[in-house]
Amino acid sequence: MTKLNSKVPKGPIKDKWTIYKDKIDLVNPANKRNIDIIVVGTGLAGGSAAATLAELGYNVKAFAYQDSPRRAHSIAAQGGINAAKNYQGDGDSTYRLFYDTVKGGDYRSREANVYRLAEVSTNIIDQCVAQGVPFARDYGGLLDNRSFGGVLVSRTFYAKGQTGQQLLLGAYSAMNRQIARGKIEMFNRHEMLDVVKVDGKARGIIARNLITGEIERHSAHAVVVASGGYGNVYFLSTNAMGSNATAAWKIHKKGAHFANPCYTQIHPTCIPRSGDYQSKLTLMSESLRNDGRIWVPKSMDDVMAIREGRKKPTELSEDERDYYLERRYPAFGNLVPRDVASRAAKERCDAGYGVNATGEAVYLDFAAAFERYGKEQAKIHNITDASEAKIYELGQAIVEEKYGNLFQMYEKIIDENPYKTPMMIYPAVHYTMGGVWVDYNLMTTIPGCYCIGEANFSDHGANRLGASALMQGLADGYFVLPYTIGDYLSDDIRTGKIPTDTSEFDEAEKEVTERINFFVNNKGTKSVDYFHKKLGKVMWDKAGMSRNATGLNEAMVEIKAIREEFWKEVSVPGTAKEMNLELEKAGRVADFLELGELFAKDALERNESCGGHFREESAEIDGPQKGEAKRNDNDYAYVAAWEYKGEPSEAILHKEELEFKDIELKQRSYK
Ligand SMILES: Cc1cc2nc3c(=O)[nH]c(=O)nc-3n(C[C@H](O)[C@H](O)[C@H](O)COP(=O)(O)OP(=O)(O)OC[C@H]3O[C@@H](n4cnc5c(N)ncnc54)[C@H](O)[C@@H]3O)c2cc1C
Repeated sequence: MTKLNSKVPKGPIKDKWTIYKDKIDLVNPANKRNIDIIVVGTGLAGGSAAATLAELGYNVKAFAYQDSPRRAHSIAAQGGINAAKNYQGDGDSTYRLFYDTVKGGDYRSREANVYRLAEVSTNIIDQCVAQGVPFARDYGGLLDNRSFGGVLVSRTFYAKGQTGQQLLLGAYSAMNRQIARGKIEMFNRHEMLDVVKVDGKARGIIARNLITGEIERHSAHAVVVASGGYGNVYFLSTNAMGSNATAAWKIHKKGAHFANPCYTQIHPTCIPRSGDYQSKLTLMSESLRNDGRIWVPKSMDDVMAIREGRKKPTELSEDERDYYLERRYPAFGNLVPRDVASRAAKERCDAGYGVNATGEAVYLDFAAAFERYGKEQAKIHNITDASEAKIYELGQAIVEEKYGNLFQMYEKIIDENPYKTPMMIYPAVHYTMGGVWVDYNLMTTIPGCYCIGEANFSDHGANRLGASALMQGLADGYFVLPYTIGDYLSDDIRTGKIPTDTSEFDEAEKEVTERINFFVNNKGTKSVDYFHKKLGKVMWDKAGMSRNATGLNEAMVEIKAIREEFWKEVSVPGTAKEMNLELEKAGRVADFLELGELFAKDALERNESCGGHFREESAEIDGPQKGEAKRNDNDYAYVAAWEYKGEPSEAILHKEELEFKDIELKQRSYK
């Protein structure tokens, strides 16, 4: 049994971070030059951390499996990044951002971390603007904002539909400055395959050079894992194809606890699945819900007519449409949080109202926005006799300006023009709120091993609000870790270089090499993807949007069977001493096959519905509250951490002591 200690500092929540920073141990600039830090992952979290740590004077070694930090999955982020700047003067504040995030996460996040996140959110925007990130601006030249789900203010900063890419270019240029100074040594196309512990502390990693196949040893005084989320455990997700759990899973197996592994975000606005031979799902940014209205036909006759091609959606009158989110949640309408919107879409489709051939699609319709913006533009340009077509054209131009690249992407994939007919959308796996357990310092349960960004669990509880993952990744990397890690490293100023010719490195390298050799020599009969797809189907069917005890028990048995077959029958062509994508995938899928079972076990133990976890037995039958959190008041900061030793072992449940009880703890309601 491990006792978890969140190390949340004492004091009122709004002062915790300030008091903490004032008291924290520091490393002086001269000593920083003698300290090495490994950062695994150079997406927004790892890239910002690497750049800042190097700027502070530490020697950083940064690792990524892509050929450049610019290709991290963070580049895919479309919609925006939150910050409590209150530029709109619409009542935003640090407290409101904190409150929305905690409430949006069904009171399952660690409040102290979330308050700190809300506090530093404003610094992120200043930092990124200083780096030259081209955030959208309004007519007067000020930074513009839009709204995302689960909030009643506009606090989302954006760069068209490419916010992640622009932020990543900012972090990348900050990193490049340090690479040029020699303060960051960048290891592209390197995959961390194990962490090395010396005297219980993380002191290095074993990495494979993905081009030559060489196995390398790297040492440091601390290791930071920023390896992103594990949504690809479902095979199909909106994540980049390469996103994986290996780095997080390896540290887990060496002693870093996992928390809430089953909390997965199923995003409501994705392009529906088209069939069985698909390897990727595509997100349509949540920002589209600012202007798009979600509906299905009211009558089953219309549903059938649309599916059979006898009617077009545009032929249905307003009366014949069910704008079910606006009907059920009038205050938030189409901008309810993601979990609520996803469950509502599934509910309508399960009831038979899905509008495509598979019955798994609802409409996202911009006709009202075209008209609204068109009329406004006609007024602005003094066009008094604008025809319907002219108004439409004017409105379309505004929508195109805001979301043009998303409309283009939709048309390319679906081959339908979304300016002429409503988009079809359906929920898809998107983000993992669960992850590696970290304390207030972002340190895992392995001393000296930190975890930041999507890979950790702390800030989003059971459901992440839109545009808050980029905020968290950059908060962790630019503003939190660079402080907290100094507190730990201040004990290491006399340690000196960590040698790599030790038994600990020998042992870790041996394990990694043996596994690689197994894969290339196994000569089984089935491809890696065969097993990944099989796992994904079990995960989606039995541990997906809605879950029940029978299905979860079956999932655990089935995943175990897939894992056993995998180790007998997996086939990896090629050799270990070359670039070998199948070999890379084999290692990652092997880890997913363990994580998947733990995931199902966590979901089974969690007899409740909350956020992305919709437990069928505990859901209410009808009404706006359907599937909302079932929570007892003492339970809101509950963390489940698990140890995995081949077989899932007993859960270690831990209730954290919280001092902040100000939040009115009531069932979340978006009526
Ligand atoms: C389509 C899409 C759109 C999104 N849009 C938004 C949005 O608008 N706003 C928002 O807030 N969030 C959004 N998100 C979520 C957000 O993009 C991610 O949560 C965030 O970018 C994750 O950043 P990260 O730095 O933690 O991880 P990543 O960007 O995934 O970076 C992971 C890094 O780790 C490296 N890595 C991983 N494993 C290893 C290993 N074993 N060895 C070496 N290197 C390794 C990778 O090479 C990479 O550099 C979106 C997500 C998706 C899927």
